[in-house]
Amino acid sequence: MVKVKTPEKLFHISSSVGYRPSRIFCVGANYRKHVEEMGLPGRESPFYFMKPREALIQGDGLSTLAVDYPPQTKELDYEVELVVLIGQAGSMVPEENALDWVGGLGVGIDFTRRDLQRKLREKNQPWELSKAFEQSAPVSSFVDLHNINFEGSSLALDINLSVNGKIKQRANTRDMIFSVSEIIADLSLYFTLLPGDLLFTGTPEGVGPVFPGDILEANIPGLPSLRVSIE
Ligand code: MN
Repeated sequence: MVKVKTPEKLFHISSSVGYRPSRIFCVGANYRKHVEEMGLPGRESPFYFMKPREALIQGDGLSTLAVDYPPQTKELDYEVELVVLIGQAGSMVPEENALDWVGGLGVGIDFTRRDLQRKLREKNQPWELSKAFEQSAPVSSFVDLHNINFEGSSLALDINLSVNGKIKQRANTRDMIFSVSEIIADLSLYFTLLPGDLLFTGTPEGVGPVFPGDILEANIPGLPSLRVSIE
C-alpha cells in the first residue's frame, strides 16, 4: 500500500508564513526537446493537469525521501521540474508583475506511470491514473525568490536530475516554452490562485524509468535539493 504523507505545512527556508499545501497544478510539455522526445505537437498556450494534495511529499533537505513504487505500472518515469509556491491570492495576474505572486521556489519530481499515460493518451482519456497517485509529487524545501539570482522577469536556473549518481536530465529553465510569469498569468485567467498552491512547470528532455533501489537527486543550484529513494 502506498502511504499518504501529505505535509501539514510546507518547509520553507526563508519564510515563516507556514503555507498549507493546496492544489498542485502541472504544466505539460514545456521544454522543446522534451516535446520532441515525446513526439508531441507544439502549442500556442500552456496545458495543465492537476495532482491532489495526497500526491505531495516533501523532503527536509537533510534526509532521503522514501517513495513507494506504485502499483499498476511497469514504467515509472521521473520528470525533474522547477516548482513554484504561490504566495498570495490572485486572478487575472498581469504577466509583468507575475513573479510578485511567487512565495517560494523549489525542485520537484513529477512521477508518471508512463505506460498508463501512453494508453490513456491513445484513448483520448484524462491523465489522472498516470499522474495523480499518492507520492507522485515529491518536492524539496522552498526558498524565497529574492534569495535567487534571476534575469529580469525570466528565471534562468540550471536544473538537473541524477539517478544513482548518473546525470539523466540537465537543462536551464530559460529553455521553457512558457515562462513562470506566462504560466502564472495564464493559469490565473482560469483559477483564482491561492497561497499554498504549487505549480510544477514542466520537465526538460531525458526522462526515463526508475526501479526499486534507485536513488534520485534533483538539483537546482541555489535551491534546496531533493533526494529520493525508490522503495
Ligand atoms: Mn511533468
